[in-house]
Amino acid sequence: MTAFEYVRPDDVAGAVTMVSADPAAAYLAGGTTQLDLLLKDGVVRSDRLVDIGRLPLRGITPGDESLRVGALTTMEEMAADPLVARRLPFVREALLAGASPQLRNMATIGGNLLQRTRCRYFRDPAVAACNKRSPGSGCAAVSGLARMHAILGASPNCIALHASDLCVPLVALDTDVHVRGTDGRRDVPLTEFYLPSGDRPEVEHVLAHGELITHVEVPLLPAGARSGYLKVRDRSSYEFALTSAAAALRIEEGTIVWARLALGGVATIPWRAREAETVLTGAPATRETFRAAAEAAIRDPFTVPGTAFKVELAKRTIVRVLRDVSGTPR
Ligand code: SF4
Repeated sequence: MTAFEYVRPDDVAGAVTMVSADPAAAYLAGGTTQLDLLLKDGVVRSDRLVDIGRLPLRGITPGDESLRVGALTTMEEMAADPLVARRLPFVREALLAGASPQLRNMATIGGNLLQRTRCRYFRDPAVAACNKRSPGSGCAAVSGLARMHAILGASPNCIALHASDLCVPLVALDTDVHVRGTDGRRDVPLTEFYLPSGDRPEVEHVLAHGELITHVEVPLLPAGARSGYLKVRDRSSYEFALTSAAAALRIEEGTIVWARLALGGVATIPWRAREAETVLTGAPATRETFRAAAEAAIRDPFTVPGTAFKVELAKRTIVRVLRDVSGTPR
């Protein structure tokens, strides 16, 4: 049992001050990741948990072109929102594809963005070689069992996957992440929020210690756009993705006039497939176009023997989601 101090601040400013002032402090929201890592796996250490669960950072506020989603909104609350169902159907699909109903009722949107990797070596303190946990120690996964690992954004230093389903459509939509720190507020595009593992796998995002996600601003799909989220996994529920894809298209008279595509289950960060979007935009909505987009999306993968199968699986996932969204026959 790891001992820690538990505190519950009265307001957002107090919470930010508490964590910012103490390098050993961490936020506690839904707890679905934090308590695993701290209490069960023992791979992170926090001497002080600052419980933000009762702060006024919960709820969904519609705007003209976007939804403002409080960081403490649960996954289940967001999935149940009628506007999400109507204007962001692939976000709802991704939410409901993740975790279990019990977990979705606890897990928050902010926590989902900040979830840590499921790499088994990262979560096993008996494994010495893990650059993410112990910088400079090596990577046990590269020569180990690496089926649930990344092929994009990966390197010999780390092939850990970002396992979020929700972040895949959010990154496709150009969602903004709003944060608050002791120096004030700022917002960061989700496409720039995560850092590639590169030489420093232990640094995963742009937040400074103590900065708190207050809400995300999710642009609504444009009128006439259709969307879909496809998740390929070993079993049909409560399982992480082997590959996934979120796609949104607007098609006029058989031509794709607007396209968004992002990938999950294959990359160290939620992966925006911009090269594929370029291939899709202005092209006919055909199987040949979709395959060309898939080839563009999965360019220069870094594979190890356990992950090589994901190259073709990811391409087929992309083709299938684009076919489904566009209504193109097989
Ligand atoms: Fe650690 Fe990353 Fe290697 Fe997993 S893949 S063992 S998290 S360095």
